[in-house]
Parts: sequence; structure tokens; C-alpha cells
Amino acid sequence: MIHDYIYPEFEVVRNYDKCVACRACERQCANEAHVYKPKYNKIVCINENCVNCHRCVTLCPTRALKIVRSGDTYKRNANWQSWTVNELIRQAGSGAVLLSSMGTPEPYPVYWDKILINASQVTNPSIDPLREPMEVRMRLGATFGTKPERDADGRLKTQLPPSLNLSVPIMFSAMSYGSISYNAHASLAKAAEELGIYYNTGEGGLHRDFERYGANTIVQVASGRFGVHQGYLDMGAAIEIKMGQGAKPGIGGHLPGKKIVEDISRTRMIPEGTDAISPAPHHDIYSIEDLRQLVYSLKEATRYQKPVIVKIAAVHNIAAIASGIARSGADIIAIDGFRGGTGAAPTRIRNSVGIPIELALASVDNRLREESIRHRVGLVAAGSIRNSADVVKAVALGADAVYIATGALLALGCHLCRSCHSGKCNWGIATQRADLVKRLNPEIGAQRLINLVTAWEREIKEMMGGMGINAIEALRGNRAMLRGVGLNEKELGILGIKHAGE
Ligand code: SF4
Ligand code: SF4
Ligand code: SF4
Repeated sequence: MIHDYIYPEFEVVRNYDKCVACRACERQCANEAHVYKPKYNKIVCINENCVNCHRCVTLCPTRALKIVRSGDTYKRNANWQSWTVNELIRQAGSGAVLLSSMGTPEPYPVYWDKILINASQVTNPSIDPLREPMEVRMRLGATFGTKPERDADGRLKTQLPPSLNLSVPIMFSAMSYGSISYNAHASLAKAAEELGIYYNTGEGGLHRDFERYGANTIVQVASGRFGVHQGYLDMGAAIEIKMGQGAKPGIGGHLPGKKIVEDISRTRMIPEGTDAISPAPHHDIYSIEDLRQLVYSLKEATRYQKPVIVKIAAVHNIAAIASGIARSGADIIAIDGFRGGTGAAPTRIRNSVGIPIELALASVDNRLREESIRHRVGLVAAGSIRNSADVVKAVALGADAVYIATGALLALGCHLCRSCHSGKCNWGIATQRADLVKRLNPEIGAQRLINLVTAWEREIKEMMGGMGINAIEALRGNRAMLRGVGLNEKELGILGIKHAGE
């Protein structure tokens, strides 16, 4: 007989001197890691159930709780680390594909942390953002029009293609209703409207309650075509074709039937309780010419009034792929790096497939410039933008704007327990359980998102001022403002930056 018991990753430590047995932790933990024993008037812990979401720690009125990493481990082995052994044991028992959520925790290089930003000292003096106007608005889209023409009065008639106009170059990335809750979507939509930016429906369709935020909504068309209809396309400010996602390049999506409750079934236009499976490819796209057809079908359907975004995962030959997309008629390319989050992905794919956004972004911007087609598309960088310095670095590497998702969820209360796929998010974000969803107040959620983006905007202006730049457009692709530390020649070459000290 083989026993598959795996020692829990975390231990819930309760200080019984402080615990008053109020049972708040028991009520707050959807994973049932706290159990009240009336006989002893005591709460006990079931460590196996704890995913380290910190809900109970945060809400315990007497600060009696802490979660620690389990001290139990196998013999030290650099090759067969504990988690590798545990995953193997789990698969030997189940025969199942391992599932994970959020971005990969693997220790791949984070290039953002190896890039430093410039500041003026004597010449080209710095600018004080408190006293001088600083422009952080960004027009996102193609910047070439038809052949210049003038009307009878000599006025320029040339029209630029439709675009998105951002008050600050930050948008909320695609997260579907179904993978996240109604209240999480409501928070994102309200905040986007207030901030003058955009949030993205993801592939789950647009809930009718959020149609009023259409002017600040990017509606997504993914391979499953969930919730896509004429009204949906008309509702959004832009349409995004999802070709890939950074956390799971090359595969589709799967929302289990148990999450397809009535409201989600109506929004996605699929029967209640059925699995929502988006295929890996779009079954009508096998070439850039096919993609071009879909881009123009969507433009035609919306009377050429809306920009079309093509979202791709950062993969090996990303520059060539982006070059093709820029020629497909798309107005914007969104590139999602491999550290990007997900509601659920096979662990092996999430941890092993794709490339970092920093390298992908730099090589795409470079290639499009070399081919003199950079002006045909806007570029959006996504996949682990963690703070305002990452935004500044992304813009200097060539992005017009960034998408944030994990950062936005952290602002809503997420504690990165990486168990979204369980549907039991204790913070009311990645769940459809009514009792959990109501834990997230959308008014408070929206205000926290507004605070976050406002704080980043202030910091971006500070950094721009330090560089002596007063308009973010002057920073876009301005790699002279960046230096690398601890990077080899090849990495510096791809990023197109010099080493610190040069
Ligand atoms: S919430 Fe804190 S005080 Fe209340 S039962 Fe849990 S550990 Fe004890
Ligand atoms: S899963 Fe979250 S709420 Fe439950 S015991 Fe662990 S940290 Fe506390
Ligand atoms: S959204 Fe919820 S379940 Fe997902 S990582 Fe954050 S706290 Fe955990």
C-alpha cells in the first residue's frame, strides 16, 4: 500500500493566549481550515486546507494568528526540491494535469529589476512636476492617416484611425466575468471610468449591468467567442482579439461548469453548468491573412469606428509575429509576458512556456522600427507590471501603455495565494460564491484602484521630471534613458540599452 500523504505547505499558528474563540476565522475561511470544537471551546487548524490567503490573519480581532511555511521537508536536494517531489506524488496518485493560478513564481530573471532609469543633473535640467505642467496622456493606436488632403478652405481633412485616449498610460488587463466576480468587474469598470482609462472584459462577455461603462471598456473576442454579438462589439471603445495569453501561451482556456452559474451563463451565452472551453487556436485563423480577415470583419461590423487590438503571448519569435500583425490592419498589439497572471493554467505551461515581457517588448519595438512600420500600431506591454518604475521602463522600451491585472487585484485585496482556480477566493475576487463575492465592496474596490493609479501617475511624473522630460510621448522608445546592471552583451543588445557606467 502506498500512502500519498503530503505534508501541508503552510501551518496556521494560533496563539491561544490571545485567541478569544470568537470564531471569526472559521467564518472567514472558505477553505475550512479553522474548525470549532465545542467540547473544548477551542478552534483547531486543518493545515492541509490553508492556501495562505491571509484573510483570517487580517480579520482576527486579537491578532492571534499567523501563517508560517511548514517546517517539515524532505532531505535537502538541489535537484529534487520538496515541491517537485510533492507535485510528482500528487500526479502519481491522480493521473491529472496540475493546475495553478496567477503568474509563475519560478525564479526567472526579472529584467525590470536589472534596468535603471536616468536623471538629469547639470545640463537638460530636471523639471519640478509640482510647479510645471507634466503631460502623461497617451493616444493609443496607429499614428498614420490616409494621404494628406485639404478641404476647399485649406484645412487638413486627413483623419487618424480610431484610437484609445488614455489619461495615463495604464489600463486594466483582460479578466473575464466568471474568472473574477461581479464585484471585481464592477470595481474595475467604475475605476476605469473615473480615471479616464480602460478595463477589459476578457473572454467572458459583457454583463448587461456594465454596458453603461462601454466608453471605458475594451471588449474581447477570443477563440470561444463567448458573449460576442453585434451589441457587444458596438458597446466597447475598442475590440481586442485574444490570440494568446502570457501565462498559458499556445493553449486555450477552461472555466469549469460549476462556475457557469445563471448570470455567467447569460453573459457568456452558453448553457448553465456547461464547461466553457476556449479552443487553443481560433478555428478560422491559421495565417496572418486569416487574422486580417477577422480584424477587418470586426472593423466592418463596427463601421471602422473602433480600434482593433490583437493580444498575443510573448513567445520565441515574437518580433516576426508582431510584424505580421502590424500588417494585418490591427491598430494596437498587446504583448503579454510569461509572468502574467491567470485564473487557471496547467502548472507546467505556466512555469515553462513563453518569454519575459521586457525582452519581447524591446525586440518587437525594434523590429517594427527597423521595418518602418512602428507608426502603424500602438504597443501595450503586459505581464508583471508591478509599480510605476516598471511603467516608465516599459514606455522607454517602446510601449505606448501597459496593462495591469495582478497589480489591480492586489489593490482589491488579493493576497496572491494563487488558488483562484479553486473558486473559493476568500477576498471575493476570483469566486462566484455569493457569500464570498459580497466581501468585496465595489465602491471601496474602485476607490482603491483609483488611489493606486493616481499614486503611480504622481510617481511617473516625478521620474519624468527627474529625466527632464515633460511629456510621456517623449519617453516612448527613448532607451537612452535606461541602463542595464548585471546583464550580458546579448541581453543588453536585445533590450537596446547600454550598461550602467557607459
Ligand atoms: S479570529 Fe482570532 S480570536 Fe477569533 S477564534 Fe480565530 S484566532 Fe481566535
Ligand atoms: S486559507 Fe486563508 S483564511 Fe483559511 S486558514 Fe489559510 S490564511 Fe486563513
Ligand atoms: S484573487 Fe483570490 S484566490 Fe486568486 S490569488 Fe488573489 S486572493 Fe488568492
